[in-house]
Amino acid sequence: MSHTTAIGALRGRLGAEVILPGDAGYDEARALHNGMIDKRPAVIARCASVGDVASALEFGRSCGLAIAIRGGGHNGPGFGTVDGGLVIDLSPMHRVEVDADRRTARVQGGATWAQVDGATHAHGLATPSGVVSSTGVGGLTLGGGHGYLTRKHGLTIDNLLAAEVVLADGRLVTASESDHPDLFWALRGGGGNFGVVTSFTFRLHPVHTVICGPTAWPASATADVLSWYRDFLPAQDEELYGFFAAMTVPPVAPFPEAFHLQKACAVIWCYTGDPARADEVFAPVRQLGPAFDGLGAAPYPALQSTFDGLYPKGLQWYWRGDFFTTVPDAAVAAHARFVEELPTMHSTMHIYPIDGAVQRVGTTETPWAHRDVNFSQVIAGVDPDPANAEVLKRWAVDYWDATHPYSAGAAYVNFMMDEGQDRVRATYGPNYRRLSEVKAQYDPDNVFHINQNILPAG
Ligand SMILES: Cc1cc2nc3c(=O)[nH]c(=O)nc-3n(C[C@H](O)[C@H](O)[C@H](O)COP(=O)(O)OP(=O)(O)OC[C@H]3O[C@@H](n4cnc5c(N)ncnc54)[C@H](O)[C@@H]3O)c2cc1C
Repeated sequence: MSHTTAIGALRGRLGAEVILPGDAGYDEARALHNGMIDKRPAVIARCASVGDVASALEFGRSCGLAIAIRGGGHNGPGFGTVDGGLVIDLSPMHRVEVDADRRTARVQGGATWAQVDGATHAHGLATPSGVVSSTGVGGLTLGGGHGYLTRKHGLTIDNLLAAEVVLADGRLVTASESDHPDLFWALRGGGGNFGVVTSFTFRLHPVHTVICGPTAWPASATADVLSWYRDFLPAQDEELYGFFAAMTVPPVAPFPEAFHLQKACAVIWCYTGDPARADEVFAPVRQLGPAFDGLGAAPYPALQSTFDGLYPKGLQWYWRGDFFTTVPDAAVAAHARFVEELPTMHSTMHIYPIDGAVQRVGTTETPWAHRDVNFSQVIAGVDPDPANAEVLKRWAVDYWDATHPYSAGAAYVNFMMDEGQDRVRATYGPNYRRLSEVKAQYDPDNVFHINQNILPAG
């Protein structure tokens, strides 16, 4: 079949949802969250069903096109698209079905966390995800997933019960502890390497209203606050979560005007324990005399979407990550320096705690090997203006160079740019070999290679 005939057949099946260069809406359809990525796919197939996914996949394979899978499109290096290839865009597949009695949610592969949080909150339930709710369920989950509920309830993958997957050969399978357990193992951290996940089933936990918000200090306090944070948080009950942030204070309420556009350090908190204990829990934080105290009670989805407005689609992003067992004093000093040099208002550095429940899962139980580290760091140069792209990259790389020597030598796969095989192998550590064996079984031709790629064994 010629390329044109094949596109005609795919159009016959998916209708207007097959978008080609020159079509109205092509530029909008190819745009990712990261405005720095400017790729031009040959075909974008917006899939609304498992059947659409299978048709698009068959089309891409028969035409010999490189195939990218797009969930929420938030990936930093832009693996949700590909120059001259096929994008399987799952965004129309965003249904969320909650079984409140069983405390599970079945979520289609193109949903965002905002859609999940909205549906589960109606039942007073939630599952761990990230801290920006426009992020896709697909990429975040398949890479691991950490956020406000992680110290108490683990990574997102630790709450994955099953996944429905269209494999490279077009077969639809369910992966769980009992069905295709090797595939189920690989999906829990191995990224989009093994197939197109058309639905995820998650375990849910009772979470409704949380005590949350930022406490912030001037940038000059970074060394003191960070060294306190690094020792304080791991010693607290798992109901208390807080990530450390280097930031520029946005010029909006409720931040006091005198603090607007000042460089600052902050901890963004989420406490899911007994509200009657909140004052006692936060007393040590308040003793540090934050310049801004934004703590208060809020519905969990409100916390989840706090940063959505600050980080809309289309900003320029360049990020670098690393895992840390602790933040030694020499690294603290480097942070204090680079916080003062934040290049733009949106640029930031976050240190997320990944202790607690994360560490109750063994190193080889899922592909996420670094269960013994305590922190996952990301340095993100961010700005609306493409003219600042090089400045963002240089600041992020210089900052990363300064702290990397104190790291555990690997990073969270979802906080990596396109940094090469060595970094991919480092992140999976002892699990890389098994991942590549599962890859050889389910995708021997490496059809799914637009990702942090795991090479098929042999
Ligand atoms: C503003 C922002 C905040 C973030 N905060 C956090 C955070 O708090 N915690 C955290 O853990 N991560 C966080 N991340 C990182 C995030 O997890 C990754 O960027 C992730 O790749 C996004 O997933 P996505 O589906 O939106 O991306 P996409 O670009 O659509 O996909 C990312 C990768 O996953 C694959 N993929 C996506 N969906 C599927 C699917 N259904 N089946 C098979 N493969 C699929 C794609 O092929 C691609 O390789 C954040 C990212 C951003 C931009």
